[in-house]
Amino acid sequence: MGNKKKDFKAGFVAIIGRPNVGKSTLLNQLVGEKITITSTLPQTTRNIIRGIVTFEEAQIVFLDTPGIVELNQVKTFIDKELIREALKNLEGVDIIVFMITPSHPTSEDMFILDNLKKIKKPSFLVINKIDKIKVPEPGSIRKEYEPFFPFTKIIPISAKKGTNFSILMGEIINCLPPHPPYYSSDFITDQPERFLIAELIREKIFTFTKQEIPYSVMIKVDEFEERKKNLIYIHAIIFTEHSSQKGILVGKSGKMIKKIGEAARLEIEKRLGCQVYLDLWISVKKNWRHHKESLKEIQYR
Ligand code: GDP
Ligand code: MG
Repeated sequence: MGNKKKDFKAGFVAIIGRPNVGKSTLLNQLVGEKITITSTLPQTTRNIIRGIVTFEEAQIVFLDTPGIVELNQVKTFIDKELIREALKNLEGVDIIVFMITPSHPTSEDMFILDNLKKIKKPSFLVINKIDKIKVPEPGSIRKEYEPFFPFTKIIPISAKKGTNFSILMGEIINCLPPHPPYYSSDFITDQPERFLIAELIREKIFTFTKQEIPYSVMIKVDEFEERKKNLIYIHAIIFTEHSSQKGILVGKSGKMIKKIGEAARLEIEKRLGCQVYLDLWISVKKNWRHHKESLKEIQYR
């Protein structure tokens, strides 16, 4: 007998929930490295990100979803398409983690509950941000959700502090099907570098411009090449919807774009482990959020 991992378990786990409940924070904490951006602004997660956690006897592949909100509340084609895609993706997963915060269900939560009923997968209700409440067990919240869906488990956590992570992981592993690992154990994400770079640039835009630039930027990394040993040249274009947004991004005598570029470059260098020359351009593409082709451009698939 060899040491074949006969009992290995592996599967896909989708984290869903309305914007800002802490999905990306949980994913980043579990995977232990910054792979998706988090921010206090909702809807900054545009792609499904896989965070991969490999244990001795199990592998969990996490999917982060764009905030699922009521379809009739979103206006643009892209937003609708992303939500539709997020819901479709749920059909292929093994376990769904529905994340909420310790508060009464909103109409968005009810919308998600309705979809859970249709999808019929083992689902966990994860009550996040329990560090913000006094009682350790948010029992009354649990009771408000229990009637709507037969949850496999209800687990209170704090994504920020790591509270109950081992319970959550243990329960997820319990529910995984026997399956060999999907990815080699040194993988933490299967997203290509271009996507990570685009997300890091987007994060800096959010950091420095706050609410001034709404969710109307699209980043395209159109060149990525090693020009010299240890120096990678990256050319990226930030598309905005209006020239006024371009103005904000450029800033007074180009100060803003310089700040964004420098901060992004430092993060990218840290991630790639080499020197980076980041060439950032800003371009106006009127109403890009309403065009179907834009979806292809922001998802490097
Ligand atoms: P997402 O939209 O669901 O992906 O939410 P994010 O992960 O981007 O988090 C939204 C905000 O909630 C951020 O400011 C996080 O720092 C914050 N947050 C996430 N988890 C916790 C938590 O456990 N406790 C507290 N107090 N804040 C949290
Ligand atoms: Mg997110």
